Amino acid sequence: LAERLQGTISKIKGKGKVTEQDVKEMMREVRFALIEADVNLKVVKTFIKRVSERAIGQDVMKSLTPGQQVIKIVKDELTDLMGGEQSPIKFAQKPPTVILMVGLQGAGKTTTTGKLANLLRKKYNRKPLLVAADVYRPAAIKQLQTLGNQLTLPVFALGTEVSPVEIVRQALEHAKEEHHDVVLIDTAGRLHIDENLMQELKDIRALKEPDEVFLVVDSMTGQDAVNVADSFNEAVGITGVVLTKLDGDTRGGAALSIRSVTQKPIKFVGMGEKMDALEPFHPERMASRILGMGDMMSLIEKAQANVDEEKAKEMEEKFRTQSFTFDDFLDQMSQVKKMGPLDEILKMLPGANKIKGLENAKIDDKSIGHIEAIILSMTPAEKTTPEIINSSRKKRIAKGSGCSIQEINRLLKQFEDMKKMMKQMTGMTQKGKKKMKLP
Ligand code: GDP
Ligand code: MG
Repeated sequence: LAERLQGTISKIKGKGKVTEQDVKEMMREVRFALIEADVNLKVVKTFIKRVSERAIGQDVMKSLTPGQQVIKIVKDELTDLMGGEQSPIKFAQKPPTVILMVGLQGAGKTTTTGKLANLLRKKYNRKPLLVAADVYRPAAIKQLQTLGNQLTLPVFALGTEVSPVEIVRQALEHAKEEHHDVVLIDTAGRLHIDENLMQELKDIRALKEPDEVFLVVDSMTGQDAVNVADSFNEAVGITGVVLTKLDGDTRGGAALSIRSVTQKPIKFVGMGEKMDALEPFHPERMASRILGMGDMMSLIEKAQANVDEEKAKEMEEKFRTQSFTFDDFLDQMSQVKKMGPLDEILKMLPGANKIKGLENAKIDDKSIGHIEAIILSMTPAEKTTPEIINSSRKKRIAKGSGCSIQEINRLLKQFEDMKKMMKQMTGMTQKGKKKMKLP
């Protein structure tokens, strides 16, 4: 989805004038891209209609950057399509909050139950109880217990002989006694939607109205995920959706259709098998991801606007060939300073939060003076090959610059981090540029 849209975007982006024909052409591409991504056909139609109407509207044609305006409209509408705002968990006025997890077999219910409990404890300071109500497979109970052990969270289980409804009834009592403020119920799935299962879920619902009924769907199943969501919503009633396996090679279509088909928000996304791989769903971020640009585009623009073109090329070359020295570091710092606060810039890099040591790379104006002093106290050899800076050299530099050995060590570490980070950054910008056909 992303790739296809990017091609279209690069065509329209720089245009100083956008004609109705351009918009139509772009919409055709967007339409293909969405259909290719397995987005529900009805959703695609409505979407294209809305974007076209807005894009052909007066204000866009007259604006200075109509190409960008159109892209912005596409992004806005994508965001809207996915619910606009992040939708938080609804907690009970009077605890415990009951969350019922439903979905087909293999969708990720049990895993998500564990992840959600983990998140509730960590981020919301809650005391969750996990309930094993999937009695059809002994392995299912074991699986939840294993996760409970791993997370050191209690799991309420009564084996496979007791009915799910009875398990939930007793679990709710147990939760009251033990002062659990959230009860997460892992239920059975089927390979297909099935009457008995739906009845069972309705019976559990009847016991005590859950605060949330989360449908867990596998994003890899695309259009099917939407059908499943629709059926579950009709039969049992859901309050929200958790879209799993978004870390995989999904085409993203499910995320786009589910909301408008079911009118129920996607609340979380599963980004991996680990217990911390659950994130609140942000429609706007997803829209960016779908458009394949992250905030990359604005970063490139920023860089292009502020960094001297020649210099930037020279730097890129240096990063690439690893011949980056402390002199360049100084130079780079002043360039980067022109772009704005470094940590702000880094936030725009997709995945930048995952780069280790980034927090050390923060540069503020105060420390910049020290950094300069340290670098200026280095010999040319030290600047080009910092590896040779041993402790006696450090002492000398410390004296020369009036800084402590610790500060020097920190700078050396920062330099290494920066080198690594810049390498990644140039890699990304170059990729971005290639796609965008920029110099
Ligand atoms: P259930 O049958 O609905 O309870 O599904 P499970 O929780 O047992 O999950 C089925 C498989 O999907 C397991 O192998 C999980 O590790 C995997 N899984 C669940 N969520 C995710 C996710 O967000 N990303 C990835 N990559 N795998 C997931
Ligand atoms: Mg399960």
